[in-house]
Amino acid sequence: MLQIKNLKAQIEDNAILKGLNLEVKPGEVHAIMGPNGAGKSTLSSVIAGREDYDVTEGTIEFLGENVLDLSPEERAQLGIFLSFQYPIEIPGVSVSNFLKTAINEIRKARGEEPMGAAELLKKMREKLGVLEMDKSFLSRSLNEGFSGGEKKRNEIFQMAMLEPKLAILDETDSGLDIDALRIVANGVNKFRSKDNAVVVITHYQRLLDYIIPDVVHVLMDGKIVKTGDKSLALELEEKGYDWIKKEVAAL
Ligand code: ADP
Ligand code: MG
Ligand code: MG
Repeated sequence: MLQIKNLKAQIEDNAILKGLNLEVKPGEVHAIMGPNGAGKSTLSSVIAGREDYDVTEGTIEFLGENVLDLSPEERAQLGIFLSFQYPIEIPGVSVSNFLKTAINEIRKARGEEPMGAAELLKKMREKLGVLEMDKSFLSRSLNEGFSGGEKKRNEIFQMAMLEPKLAILDETDSGLDIDALRIVANGVNKFRSKDNAVVVITHYQRLLDYIIPDVVHVLMDGKIVKTGDKSLALELEEKGYDWIKKEVAAL
């Protein structure tokens, strides 16, 4: 589904990604962990196509297609979703209207008919139920006055509604209490299927108690330096990152 080879990216002459390799197959959940400043958010932005980063080397293929020349919108139409893609506050634009527009833009680009109002409402109610959110949420102004927890739930709600093939969740757990964490994780787990894939970027192991990853990577200094299964996340929680730095230095 996603194949990244030797990816190098910089921002204003600062090298941030330094030859990163990653392969994600349909049905898989990958966790990417790593210290602050390692390049995790840069990686998600580069996959989604944000324009402030220069890719200087390497390739990103999604469903066999080179996406490096595509705009963020075109990548979203292909089925790539990044949490925080829509963090802007839009007073006067409700959550439901925003989603309706986003969904129908994607459908239009794919040559499909817009989703009917009844179908849309039914789907929104169903997904809100999974996330234990009240339907009054739909008429709120997008992101305006949202609490931290509401923002996170809204990200997962957007993901559930847009049904991407690849969802990248960058620190969706930060600032969540345990109840909200469980609800967010439940939303992700309901979304998981053999046809889609999820990349969860997180500092903390605790989210991975609820979203069990198939593969865990450690991203450090712009590269994936170690890959393992879920036990790697537990090991990181217990021992920190220093032992990996030493391992990498010894190579
Ligand atoms: P992480 O998400 O792993 O904490 P980031 O990808 O946010 O790491 O940042 C990686 C490095 O790139 C950091 O050193 C950060 O300071 C730098 N960086 C990220 N975004 C910018 C930017 N817009 N301008 C300058 N430097 C940036
Ligand atoms: Mg950071
Ligand atoms: Mg980050």
